[in-house]
Amino acid sequence: MEVISRQDILTCPCCNSTERFFENLLREMKKNAFLPDNIAHFDFQVREGVPLPSQKINTAPGGTVFPFFRAIWDICSKCGCMYSILTIEAAVKKSLNIPRLLTPGGADLPSVAGFTLT
Ligand SMILES: [Zn+2]
Repeated sequence: MEVISRQDILTCPCCNSTERFFENLLREMKKNAFLPDNIAHFDFQVREGVPLPSQKINTAPGGTVFPFFRAIWDICSKCGCMYSILTIEAAVKKSLNIPRLLTPGGADLPSVAGFTLT
């Protein structure tokens, strides 16, 4: 994955607080050993992908470079503002070796579009 731009937002854009609802909740869950220390965010906080229709991606040849984005959000604990704490714009290359899946009888299953990090 080639990162084109990355923005880390450290404070609430509305009130400049650094306290975040999910970040605090995650910290408490780690402190009580409900979650391992290497968890950075809850899954639902992360939105990422290639912002194109799947048909466009599936029909593109291997090696095609697509735009990719990742956005992670949280809620300000002081004023309730929802905001992105990290945004990344990148480029990803479609895998050249798409695995070919076969059923026991030999019939092809639909291929899966794969992406590799570049
Ligand atoms: Zn705030």
